[in-house]
Amino acid sequence: MTQRRIPIVAEPPDEVMVSLYEAQKKIYPRSVSGPFTKWRWGMIWLTQVVFYGLPWLEWGQRQAVLFDLGARRFYVFGLILYPQDLIYLTGILVISALSLFLFTAVAGRLWCGFSCPQTVYTEMFLWIERKIEGDRAARMRLDGLPLSMEKVTRKGLKHILWIGVAMWTGITFVGYFTPIRELLVEFYQASMGPWEMFWVFFYGFATYGNAGFMREQVCKYMCPYARFQSAMFDRDTLIVTYDETRGEPRGRRSRTTDTTELGLGACVDCTLCVQVCPTGIDIRDGLQYECIGCGACADVCDTVMDKMGYARGLVKFSTENGIAHHWSQRQMLQRVLRPRVLIYAAVLSVLCIGLLVSLSFRTPFRVDVIRDRGVMSRIVEGDKLENVYRLQIMNANEKPQHYRISASGLSGLEIESESDESESDESDGRVTVGPAQSRWVTIHLRIPENTAEPGSHIIQFVVQALDSPDHVSEKSVFLVPR
Ligand code: SF4
Ligand code: SF4
Repeated sequence: MTQRRIPIVAEPPDEVMVSLYEAQKKIYPRSVSGPFTKWRWGMIWLTQVVFYGLPWLEWGQRQAVLFDLGARRFYVFGLILYPQDLIYLTGILVISALSLFLFTAVAGRLWCGFSCPQTVYTEMFLWIERKIEGDRAARMRLDGLPLSMEKVTRKGLKHILWIGVAMWTGITFVGYFTPIRELLVEFYQASMGPWEMFWVFFYGFATYGNAGFMREQVCKYMCPYARFQSAMFDRDTLIVTYDETRGEPRGRRSRTTDTTELGLGACVDCTLCVQVCPTGIDIRDGLQYECIGCGACADVCDTVMDKMGYARGLVKFSTENGIAHHWSQRQMLQRVLRPRVLIYAAVLSVLCIGLLVSLSFRTPFRVDVIRDRGVMSRIVEGDKLENVYRLQIMNANEKPQHYRISASGLSGLEIESESDESESDESDGRVTVGPAQSRWVTIHLRIPENTAEPGSHIIQFVVQALDSPDHVSEKSVFLVPR
């Protein structure tokens, strides 16, 4: 009997194309109302009244808050800071970062959900969108329609308003760095300088793009804070949570359904919590890095629970421990003061107190000493050896100030000053500097020839305010040639 041979042929492999990039689905957040939404709008009003209003406040003859980079001077109400005061700016940045750590450890992404500019501007742009295109269902329907006059009109109007808000935001932002009243006039006359024009349009364009189009993608893919926040979370951090033990098994039912008979949990699977979510996630899947802690799902779920006659709080702000152990609010609050929070709070308090003390005891003027490298040591009349220096005196007061300059460190040291500016100086090292102005003064230091060893000698300039006991000492060197 002959055996039949059956050839074994390898089947061609199934080819599956896997895209490395997920197609972006447009999210249409549904409008929602409730206590957390009210809080968010309260924070939007508060932050935006401050942001849009601050550059318009006047302080005497000038803008109250102005970071004048051209003049290298920062005005914050009565405080006048120079670039030499950068330490205070560094202190404020460190305090802001630590505050963020503290609030994150206590309340999770409170900043993201209620005060972050991305959330705030997205909410404002969404509000405009809803007013013109309607709520979620209407917007989805409009996007699905072919081009029509109505669609073009609605979309066009929305974009005009978005661009208006974005440009106003750009002008306001630049108005912190250049006087806003003049900037506005220049904007209307199309005569802004190149830097002002660049930043107004750049900031406006960024607002338009981020709040109008990118929205949740900024939080999901661009914001670094979302990535490292988990390092600051623990089981007692406040997060938006779904009470799974109470909610599951989920299922649709009518108000009169006996849930115990059907073995159902409290979640009616209405998906409203997903529909209101600005990042499009389902909080019932557990804590996710995309959740910005806005509480919209908690607000909408409470309205569902009210309609069904169930207890509120199926989705709520709680902690992992709170949910696991069924703790009351009081029990959760007792866990707020834990070691990590206390350490953050202690460091933050020390820094805040240090910054305030340092600001209040700050000398109200600054001095920079530069040795004039164009003029080497030289012999002048009277057999004197002369070195030349340039001193910049920066008056951080709102009034003109008078100063006396002296120098020490070598025997027989004499001082002679001349101002680099047109106003005449008082003699004998005395200088007057106008309010919030800085002034260059050229100082000639002389010693009798052959009274000091060749080489460099440390000397000390002292600038004494004549209207107050404040003084500033600055070191420099006096060169004696061989
Ligand atoms: S809103 Fe509440 S009831 Fe509705 S699906 Fe979400 S968790 Fe369930
Ligand atoms: S899951 Fe809830 S809290 Fe988190 S982003 Fe979505 S709506 Fe806001």
